[in-house]
Amino acid sequence: MSKPTPMMTQYLQMKEQYKDAILFFRLGDFYEMFYDDAILAAKELEITLTRRDKKNAIPMCGVPHHSAKGYIERLIEKGYKVAIAEQMEDPKMTKGMVKREVVQIITPGTVMDDMISENESNYLACLFDAGEDYIIAYSDVSTGELKVTQCDETTMLNEMSSIAPKEIIINAALPSNIDQHMRLMTNVVSLYQSDVTFDITSNLSAQLQPAVNLLLSYIRDTQMRALDHIDQPIEYAALGHMRLDMYAKRNLELTESIRLKTKKGTLLSIYNQCKTPMGNRRLKEWIERPLVNKEQIEDRLTVVRLFNDEFLLRHQLREALTYVYDIERLAGRVQFGNVNAKDLIQLKYSLEQLPRINELLNPFSHIVSGLEGIQSLAPLYQMLEESIVEEPPTTIKEGGIFKDGYNITLDEYRNAQKNGKAWLAALQTKERERTGIKSLKISYNKVFGYYIEISKANLVNLDIAEFGYDRKQTLSNAERFITEELKQKEALILGAEEKAIDFEYEAFIQLREQVKAYIPNLKRQAKRIAELDCLQNFSEVATNNNYTEPKISDRRVLQIKDARHPVVEQVMERDQYVPNDCLLDDNGFIYLITGPNMSGKSTYMRQVALISIMAQMGSYVPASSAELPIFDQIFTRIGAADDLVSGQSTFMVEMLEARNALVNATENSLIIFDEIGRGTSTYDGLSLAQSMIEYVHNHIGAKTLFSTHYHELVGLDHSLDGLNNIHVAAKEYNGELIFLHKIMPGAVENSYGIHVAKLADLPDEIISRAGHLLESFENYSIKDLNYVGRDDRKKENELKAQHKKVNPDEQVIKESQAVIQPAFDLFSESENNAVISELKQLTIESMTPIEALLKLQQLKSQIK
Ligand code: ADP
Ligand code: MG
Repeated sequence: MSKPTPMMTQYLQMKEQYKDAILFFRLGDFYEMFYDDAILAAKELEITLTRRDKKNAIPMCGVPHHSAKGYIERLIEKGYKVAIAEQMEDPKMTKGMVKREVVQIITPGTVMDDMISENESNYLACLFDAGEDYIIAYSDVSTGELKVTQCDETTMLNEMSSIAPKEIIINAALPSNIDQHMRLMTNVVSLYQSDVTFDITSNLSAQLQPAVNLLLSYIRDTQMRALDHIDQPIEYAALGHMRLDMYAKRNLELTESIRLKTKKGTLLSIYNQCKTPMGNRRLKEWIERPLVNKEQIEDRLTVVRLFNDEFLLRHQLREALTYVYDIERLAGRVQFGNVNAKDLIQLKYSLEQLPRINELLNPFSHIVSGLEGIQSLAPLYQMLEESIVEEPPTTIKEGGIFKDGYNITLDEYRNAQKNGKAWLAALQTKERERTGIKSLKISYNKVFGYYIEISKANLVNLDIAEFGYDRKQTLSNAERFITEELKQKEALILGAEEKAIDFEYEAFIQLREQVKAYIPNLKRQAKRIAELDCLQNFSEVATNNNYTEPKISDRRVLQIKDARHPVVEQVMERDQYVPNDCLLDDNGFIYLITGPNMSGKSTYMRQVALISIMAQMGSYVPASSAELPIFDQIFTRIGAADDLVSGQSTFMVEMLEARNALVNATENSLIIFDEIGRGTSTYDGLSLAQSMIEYVHNHIGAKTLFSTHYHELVGLDHSLDGLNNIHVAAKEYNGELIFLHKIMPGAVENSYGIHVAKLADLPDEIISRAGHLLESFENYSIKDLNYVGRDDRKKENELKAQHKKVNPDEQVIKESQAVIQPAFDLFSESENNAVISELKQLTIESMTPIEALLKLQQLKSQIK
């Protein structure tokens, strides 16, 4: 291999320092990448990979500097870091090698501007291993927010999952299980070390400082600038919220759907009435961190109630919020120093609404103590109103920012320009008269400045010397001239324009500094506005969806009447969703839920969890009435979420989630176990399920919803006082299964698996064979798990015979029959002919099981 060229040597030295970033190396109008960076970038960006020269065959690719932003954005999104190396000298002016320097490292946690979503915070977190426990320091560089807390491992895991950082830096290698957790959250976890200390003026505990220092140091190293734009750190206690671990957040689909990783189908998607991006960011935070303090919850509920009662207030507030821009991020840009005049106009419009909002809320301040007034920031508004034109340019280097009359000097420059232009027009007329050439014109270009242009045809009879014309440029069909007089005016006009531009730039920087003084106050107002926006959102959503105000129980009672699943009910037609009750208290705190597949067990359990979360967020809930305890934590084990990402088997994930609940739950927790033990052999699963229930019952006392397909478990209510059986009703009619989605007391006898298989249109032979097999299995099976483990078969059968069968009470059966009664008339009623003919036309062969079920549901809903 031949010796690298001086430029490649420069490149390689630079690359050595930024190993974990893709180096964008400025070469003229391009950013070039070489070696592995080139191979990677070419693949990720789908651009052509070339060779720098034939002999060395160095892989290389490049992007034009003017369109680099889009490419950088894509790399950041994919979790890479990008180091930008610029030319620090003008190549035209430099002999030999141009000096180059890395001026910024763009990383997923430190990007700003329009590369990040406005509806969620873009956090960079430092996870600091402090020996016994952890320190988390995190910041959103775009708003300057900086927070820090110290906590144990479990709390840390929950907290990190609430923060949902885009990038994590660590001071020491993490234990592998924790590392795995972190990498599930973000694909950018980097080890980073630094001894730099920063001047921290806020009241921060000394032991937290190293984490803050490390975080700040990283921000400075990547941004390569002073840190004026980052706020002083705020210390907080991570325990002030309901703890929701990663599993619970994911399983309950709070902000991201399990399958598609989108907002659609999540709890977050229900609250779609925020008016500002700040409100949306706060909302997401509230959903992930429900409150645990009764007063705080009630404070929010009080405001929601107020907005519900005072329709006009809510309406006008929403109206005012429509005009409020992202004050937090605008303030962040002022702080950072990349604010432009357009941003300040947005800020002005936002400020304009503050007195209005204040006025709206004032009459109610006595009702709502938490609703302290919004400050109007009138002086700042005044300052912006007087200075900046309504539609300024996006750049601050070309003038046109300030209003006429804002500054005397600027006005003078502008007059000189304006007068100059009038003078030029007059000169053109004068010259036309003098020469008699009507097409003579005075124009301007960047290279030659102002000139008089005369076409060649007209020049033939003209003695240019007589008119004092100096030739400046010859074109194919015209000549351009200048005169002494024109030259002088040009200096004046151009001078004035340049001076005006410089002046405006300086004035803008000054103005920006003045705005800086208001930032702490601006951020306070922004916070209040974000909260108000969330609360009006809650109220709007509650009204639209017929939610009710939850009562926070002092007796640890959970009693919900006519509860609905907030997300599922949205995708159904009005009144199609079947509401259900739930009652869990200290006497009966475990529900064992049975019912056929697709009957609604999972939906029911999730809805109880979601309603609890909603209430602790301070929101109304989908029910006719609700009394709820304050849960310290919700644990879930739901469905067979495919956990391919973490590389763990489904059963292992199941056990990990179960362990997490069983180790950490308290009597104030809610546990949701959905068909636990499914991922292993029957008796394995059954035994695990039973011992878990017993453990929860005897040692934890947490409110627990436990759905199961093991009918052997339903006898547990005899040995466990705190356990009650419930089931989701379904009815068999002419061998077909009808789902009622209604929760009833007692256990269900049949799991109807074969019915569901039939619904899914499995071949008849399989269905009938399965029916026979089932019969013979049932003759042998052990109905009550209380006897599992004893091998004395005779004794078992004796016990089994003695054991009273659990039957839903008579009344319930009557009720359920009443509900489905119309269905029995399905085929006799003439107005249902449409349904029948549709049934006949169905091509079942081409339907998926789900389609078949949906169709069934739709047909069912059509029946009169
Ligand atoms: P399971 O867990 O018992 O198999 P799911 O909870 O997954 O059943 O529910 C299956 C489907 O039934 C859901 O997708 C939903 O469409 C419907 N469903 C569930 N509960 C209700 C209800 N209360 N009212 C109406 N439809 C419901
Ligand atoms: Mg289910």
